[in-house]
Order: sequence, then C-alpha cells, then structure tokens
Amino acid sequence: MGRYDGRVVVVTGAAQGIGFGCATRFAEEGASVAVVDLDESAAAAAAAKLPGGDGQKHTGIGADVSDTEAVEAAVARVVEELGGIHVVVNNAGITRDNLLFKMTDEDWDLVMNVHLRGAFLMTRAAQKHFVEQKYGKILNLSSVSALGNRGQANYSAAKMGIQGFTRTLGIELGPFGINANAIAPGFIATEMTDATARRLKMEPEQLRQMNAEHNPVRRVGFPEDIAAAAAFLCSDEASYITGQTLYVDGGAKLG
Ligand code: NAP
Repeated sequence: MGRYDGRVVVVTGAAQGIGFGCATRFAEEGASVAVVDLDESAAAAAAAKLPGGDGQKHTGIGADVSDTEAVEAAVARVVEELGGIHVVVNNAGITRDNLLFKMTDEDWDLVMNVHLRGAFLMTRAAQKHFVEQKYGKILNLSSVSALGNRGQANYSAAKMGIQGFTRTLGIELGPFGINANAIAPGFIATEMTDATARRLKMEPEQLRQMNAEHNPVRRVGFPEDIAAAAAFLCSDEASYITGQTLYVDGGAKLG
C-alpha cells in the first residue's frame, strides 16, 4: 500500500533531473504519473522508465509550460488519459545567467515566463479540478537563489516570486482542501548545474566538489533528496502544512 495509490501526479520538466527524480518517487509510492516536458518524445521516454504495478499508468506529454493553450491541453490530456489529477509539481525551469548590465530583455522574460508564468498557468488549469473534488496538492520549485545570487537577478526574482505565489495559493485554496507548498533546493547535481559548470569553464565534477566542501553536510544534493521532501509535502500526512517553503539545501543558506 503506497501513499499515492490511486493518485494522479503531474510533474513538469520531468524528462530529467529533479523532475524525473520526483516522478520516480511518486511512481514508486503508487501514483500514476504524467511527465510534462518541452519535447514530447523525451517526456514519453521518461514516462516509460517509471516503475509501476497494477492500477498504475504513466504518460508523457509535450508542452511548454509558459504557453496557455499548451498547458490547458496538457491538463485536459492528463485527466482523460490517467482518469483525474490530484498533485501538480511545478518543476520546469531554465537559467539565463548574466550580470545585470549584460542581461538582455530576452534573458529576463524567458526566465520569468518559464518559472512564474509556467507555475501560474499549470496551477490555474489544475485548480479547477482540485476545487471541484475538494482535494489537491501543489508543489512549486523555488531555490536558495531566491535569497540572492550574483549573476541571477532574473532567476532569483522568479524564485522569490514563487514563494509569494505559494503563500497566496495557501491562503486562497486552503478552504477547498488544497495545499500549496514550495521546496527551495540548494545545489543539486543535474544537467542544470552541470551546464553552469561548463559555462564557468569547469568540469561538472569540479563544481560539485567545490559546493560540497562549502556545504555544512559536506555533500551536494541529488534529485532523490528533493523527491523525498516532495513526497512528504504532497502527502496527506502534510495536510496541515500549507503556504510554506522548505529549504532542502544541506544547511547551505545558514552559511
Ligand atoms: P534540468 O535538469 O535542466 O531540468 C529541467 C527540465 O525542465 C528539462 O527537462 C527542461 O527541458 C524542462 N523545461 C525547460 N523549460 C520548459 C518549459 N518551458 N516547459 C516545459 N518544460 C521545460 O533542471 P533541474 O536541475 O532538474 O531543475 C528543476 C527545477 O529545480 C527548476 O525549477 C530549477 O530552477 C529548480 N532548482 C534546481 C536546482 C539545482 O541545483 N539543480 C537548485 C534549485 C532549484 P529541456 O531540457 O528540453 O530544456
């Protein structure tokens, strides 16, 4: 008996990284999972790798989370193909790092659109179903960068915006049996941080080691660390927790 038996979970940006880690964990705990990502074939390939038993069905859906029509269509497909929707994890994300004086309008808009507009559109589409059934869980991905990070004015603003968005969802949707929380990860070893290493002309392993040395628990995080917190926050055990942001960062923000 899994905590997510009979539940349908949607994870955006789940073809890889933290999203795939979360999708895997929810599937291990009994959920049917919709992997939403930009590229439908990558989403379908990720969905095909998820574990599952009797009564579970996974699907991969191609959608750009910043596109209203694509998001509405994706949520409709989830309900049709998997028979409902109970949890939404707004995880899709990108970085376009640059110092402020070099940051272009496009760098700013792209990051805002994927993180903030994307979370807004997915949540608005899902809440119709959540309110009707008086049940739903929303989990948004923030970041330790919300507290400020050199070269990430766009990303930092978006990730702090996610925290305000989450608190407001908690207030508005609580009366309808809906919980909304956020996780703010520290350094997690994924393609996103590997790409940062390459941009800084470092080997990914070198950047991981540097971050591990400066972290109170002396290691970097992995998608499984975020997935464990996600599986708790979206479970019924956490039904008295809403509007919160949980920092899952090995204590990094304490430093
Ligand atoms: P990742 O490995 O780069 O994965 C992100 C996924 O999102 C990719 O599959 C990407 O697709 C997809 N995506 C990008 N734009 C999209 C869009 N418009 N619509 C749908 N999907 C889209 O990143 P990650 O490290 O797992 O990060 C996941 C989330 O955690 C992000 O919100 C990130 O900001 C946050 N986070 C990460 C870290 C970290 O250290 N890794 C720390 C704090 C917060 P493509 O590959 O096709 O672009």
